[in-house]
Amino acid sequence: MTIQGKVVIGVDIGTTSTKAVVFSEQGRVLASHAVDYPIIHPHTGWAEQDPDELFAAVIQAVGGVTVRYAIRPKQVKALGFSAAMHSVMAIDQEGKPLTNLIIWADNRSVAQAERLLKEQNGIDIYRRTGTPIHPMSPLAKLMWLKEERPDVFRNARRFVSVKDYVLYRLYGEYVTDHSLASATGLFRLSTLDWDEDVLSFLGIGCEHLPRLVPATHILQGMEKDWAEKMGVAPDVPVIIGASDGVLANIGVGAVLPGEAAITIGTSGAVRTIATNPTTDEKGRTFCYALTPGYWIVGGPTNNGGILLRWLRDEFGAQEREVAKKLGMDPYDLLTKYAEHVPPGAEGLVFLPFLSGERAPYWNANARGTFFGLSLHHKREHFIRAVMEGVCFSILSVALAIRDVTGPMEEIRVSGGFAKSPFWRQILSDMLGKPLIVPQTHEASALGAAAVALYALGELPSLGMVKNWIETTARHEPNEDHTLVYAELFDLYVRLYERLKEEFDMIAAFQRRNR
Ligand code: ADP
Repeated sequence: MTIQGKVVIGVDIGTTSTKAVVFSEQGRVLASHAVDYPIIHPHTGWAEQDPDELFAAVIQAVGGVTVRYAIRPKQVKALGFSAAMHSVMAIDQEGKPLTNLIIWADNRSVAQAERLLKEQNGIDIYRRTGTPIHPMSPLAKLMWLKEERPDVFRNARRFVSVKDYVLYRLYGEYVTDHSLASATGLFRLSTLDWDEDVLSFLGIGCEHLPRLVPATHILQGMEKDWAEKMGVAPDVPVIIGASDGVLANIGVGAVLPGEAAITIGTSGAVRTIATNPTTDEKGRTFCYALTPGYWIVGGPTNNGGILLRWLRDEFGAQEREVAKKLGMDPYDLLTKYAEHVPPGAEGLVFLPFLSGERAPYWNANARGTFFGLSLHHKREHFIRAVMEGVCFSILSVALAIRDVTGPMEEIRVSGGFAKSPFWRQILSDMLGKPLIVPQTHEASALGAAAVALYALGELPSLGMVKNWIETTARHEPNEDHTLVYAELFDLYVRLYERLKEEFDMIAAFQRRNR
């Protein structure tokens, strides 16, 4: 198959793969190619990736799609980049990696994050930088590197994120965009510059970090070999773009203040838009930059669709078998059973913190809990309670964001959970708000392509992206159900507050008995 006419390629460097997605100038997906790579776990709780493998994946993803669809260099109007947040690695004088990429999922710096909060007035650092104090934050990771690998830290000439490294290999200069920088814990939101206080605490200077540029920054003059391997012209405009989370908002059409995007894939997130940097007195939400006047305020939860997957894999052998015979997706069968149970699962409440929790509690020791169990509860009650528990956690994040930015009027949902109309309705009932299901393909890559066109002056505003995206379904909340959920949500919050100490105890027990 060949593709005619001008195209824009969105390159999304994600956690499991890099995708190159080819879009028309009106944001229509024409083709895509993904190249996978593994996460390396050298020790429990560590999560790393090989930066050169990720660089190769970028070249192969773009090269793969241009070859397969016979896209000629002249057709490629621009490349726009998106990348996962919170990665960091050390680079030496010659530009060679001194470490692997330490990625967002790495928890080695738990102790450093705790000390930042208790001893360094972490809440102040968060309020200046917008990144919650957590082991995911490059700030905590750099503190770990300084304390645990002092020789590497001393010899490091630069500390960069995955995208900065890829662009360094392509252009020979260290640059990063405000958006990814705002997810490092080292960047001051109010000045759009590195935070001198945090840097001096770490004992580094701006010269150890990439040069800061806006998301619309255009790079040109790529090394010829790489351009050839990707099938693009060396002078093709490459727009640096932003982080995947921020771009995903654009890519689902949540583009104005009051509009929110909720994604529930394996994990989940709620994000909305603010016109100024906005942080939370209690430290519950993040604030990341896109362009001046365009900030994303939100919160990530660890416990999204992974919980239904856990139920399917650990307790759903029977359903998996039946589904196989019927040629159905086991998830569809599981959720069908749950439909027969009324809202509130007849008194079974589930706290979904099987992987600890990030927003709004930021508590790695939190654990899952079924509460209210009685003899009348059957497996379908458990399924429904799990689906509701995931939505309670999303509601708790949404309420924290509402405290910071005001109400959300239009909510767009995406991710694996959105395949289930029933699960979407539970969420709508719980939030007491209508939900819109946009037709999304590769939201972050679409956001990256949109920023690229905007940077070239060919898209008057990022808000125009909304015109590119069709709506596939809409849900209205059922008021009776909303009342049931409001009552149970109070209980959910009480249970969490009351069990905090017990969560610490069971987590300590687990650590001792590992
Ligand atoms: P997997 O869990 O097999 O990696 P996906 O990546 O497609 O699945 O989806 C992520 C999550 O979305 C799943 O763990 C599951 O919770 C949810 N999901 C996917 N498909 C469905 C479905 N048909 N009904 C309900 N939930 C679903």
